[in-house]
Amino acid sequence: MSERHGGAPLPVGEQYPAPDAELEARAWALESLLAEKGLLNSDLIDRIVHAYENDIGPMLGARVVARAWADATFRERLLKDATAAAAELGIAGMQGEHMVCVENTPRVHNVMCCTLCSCYPWPVLGLPPLWYKAPAYRASLVADARKVLREDFGLDIPADVEIRVWDSSSEIRYFVLPERPRGSEAMSEAELAALVTRDSMIGVAKASAPGGVSR
Ligand code: FE
Repeated sequence: MSERHGGAPLPVGEQYPAPDAELEARAWALESLLAEKGLLNSDLIDRIVHAYENDIGPMLGARVVARAWADATFRERLLKDATAAAAELGIAGMQGEHMVCVENTPRVHNVMCCTLCSCYPWPVLGLPPLWYKAPAYRASLVADARKVLREDFGLDIPADVEIRVWDSSSEIRYFVLPERPRGSEAMSEAELAALVTRDSMIGVAKASAPGGVSR
């Protein structure tokens, strides 16, 4: 389901409209103006974007989740203070100063968004996908999460499972600890990490089943 698996179909959610072209043009004009005045260095921006798109991405969050699945005491620390727990693995950085990890269970499914803009825990998930920033996702998720998960992401949450929607802000950024898939009991931490997708940490998908399809 995730674009991380190169070549696989994009989640239905990717079909949400791209950000407003006028807004993008305005941001570009602002960046150019600030660079022209020597207040901003375009190379630096390019380096930051490259780093977050290539070096810092969901694979870091996947390491955190895999450690939590493998180590119960780490899991406890993660749910208590996600920023501190991630730092134990050397994972930290801007837009992740106050992260909160919420745990999926057989009774509760968590999913996150940012109703105001696109707040997202960069150190563990990298940069947000386009659809995460789309007004359609932000508005409809808080209105009817069960419907959005089913219709836009193909994730059917049973009626007896409570859905909790977490609204990230510039101060607090959420990510999901997905349920450990059945059949993964004998897997190593590195193998477990490969089951953890970006979408499962946003809460619009489950972690992948061992040797199988995400669900
Ligand atoms: Fe935001």
